Amino acid sequence: MLRQMWGQKNSDVAGLAVAGLVYFALARFGMALFALQPSNITLIWLPSGIALVMYLQWGYRSLPVVALASFTANYPGLHDGAHAPLLHVAINGLADGSVGLISGYLLRRFLPNGLTRTNDLLPFGFWVCIVPTAFTSLILSFNLAQGGYIPWHKAGDFLLTLMLGDSLGILLVYQIYQGWRDEMTLRWHEKYWLAGTSLGVLLLLLLGFTLLPGAIFFILPLLLILSFNAGLAGIATISSLAMVCIIAATAHNVGPFVAADVMESNFRLMAFVFSSALTILGIALQNRQLSESEHSGRLWKTAAEHVPVAGRMNRRAFLPRLQNEQQRTLRNGSVYTFAMLDLDHFKLINDTYGHHSGDGVLRLFATIMQESCRSIDMVVRMGGEEFGILFPECDEAAALIALERIRRRLEDEPLMVEGNAIRITVSVGVAAFSGGQDADVIDRADKALYRAKDSGRNRIIIAAA
Ligand code: GH3
Ligand code: MG
Ligand code: MG
Repeated sequence: MLRQMWGQKNSDVAGLAVAGLVYFALARFGMALFALQPSNITLIWLPSGIALVMYLQWGYRSLPVVALASFTANYPGLHDGAHAPLLHVAINGLADGSVGLISGYLLRRFLPNGLTRTNDLLPFGFWVCIVPTAFTSLILSFNLAQGGYIPWHKAGDFLLTLMLGDSLGILLVYQIYQGWRDEMTLRWHEKYWLAGTSLGVLLLLLLGFTLLPGAIFFILPLLLILSFNAGLAGIATISSLAMVCIIAATAHNVGPFVAADVMESNFRLMAFVFSSALTILGIALQNRQLSESEHSGRLWKTAAEHVPVAGRMNRRAFLPRLQNEQQRTLRNGSVYTFAMLDLDHFKLINDTYGHHSGDGVLRLFATIMQESCRSIDMVVRMGGEEFGILFPECDEAAALIALERIRRRLEDEPLMVEGNAIRITVSVGVAAFSGGQDADVIDRADKALYRAKDSGRNRIIIAAA
């Protein structure tokens, strides 16, 4: 246990250090890669996205690492030609560092499950991209104008550019993080699609930056086709990388977005990158919702056609499944129900017929539960003579039909165990989840179960939301 904690701690420190280095490198060399010349406007600020991911992964501990990385990355560019440079660089570092903190906090507050559905895009854009970057860009531009690094009359333009660049950095980095967090593995056919699309995008980039600038616009349809054939992780990665290449090229004055006026270049590029990235992300999310509900539709069909098989798992194996169901329900806007069942006065059975017969009763009870549910419903031994049933894609009313069948069956027929006809009843607590309720369904079902016991046993009680 101690070793495990120690190992965890070590890998945390190592992860934070690597992320800090990535932050430093992107902040230090981002200017050279992504700043539009001659005005030196930075078109995208990937470190903001890295800071958000670091906050989501390591919490408040990431703040000093980000602030330090930002400070050391900014120092060489800011230290000459101004008064009190340390103060300005320090303010810069803190403002940069707090972007991740604020956007991470707002993300947890408004989208606790992350960016998982198409309807999340708008709140994500507003709360996670615009609000935090507006706040820190205000501090940064004031700080730089005050320190004499930019003229005051340019501060407004500068603020807007910072906001756009930071927001873009957050969007492109976060979508990759979200994609890989949700699905760690790629399926085989997906790998072919990803390899093929990458090749296509690469060719279009080459063409676009040499002979045929307009070729860049064909990257969008190519990514759209990919979004119908691959998961979010792969799509987000390729889409972000393609956009980063386009931005880097524009910064070096190649490609279709270059215009005589710098602000005009910037505007054309932003219009393309934002609309493409958001369209592709939106379709990828939509597609995932669609394939998940198709999948559960198929499960319903199998459930209707197949005789249920007995198979029980324990609480430990069950908890990750429950978590999966929770996430899926939130993504699809559907509902699932969880029930907790506990046999009434079971001690008496043990005392009267012996422990061995008690075991037989438990086995029969498990079989009855399994037979009364669909094959996709999960019967779990939560401990002792307490069982749970998870009803995926199922509301309270539908679950109650199955549960009432179980309760009545025990009430009506004695169980035949080792030649004895044993009469026993069951008490049940039920809790549904569709996003609005308290997410701890086990606890809610448990409390309802206690109420069922208190109010006389052999009954089903539905939990409060
Ligand atoms: P009630 O739930 O109605 O309040 O009364 P109860 O008598 O069922 O009380 P409780 O649920 O607290 O006790 C459960 C008993 O079940 C205690 C324990 O001896 C027995 N038990 C737990 N696991 C097993 C098992 O695997 N086999 C057998 N035979 N008995 C078990
Ligand atoms: Mg009991
Ligand atoms: Mg019990």
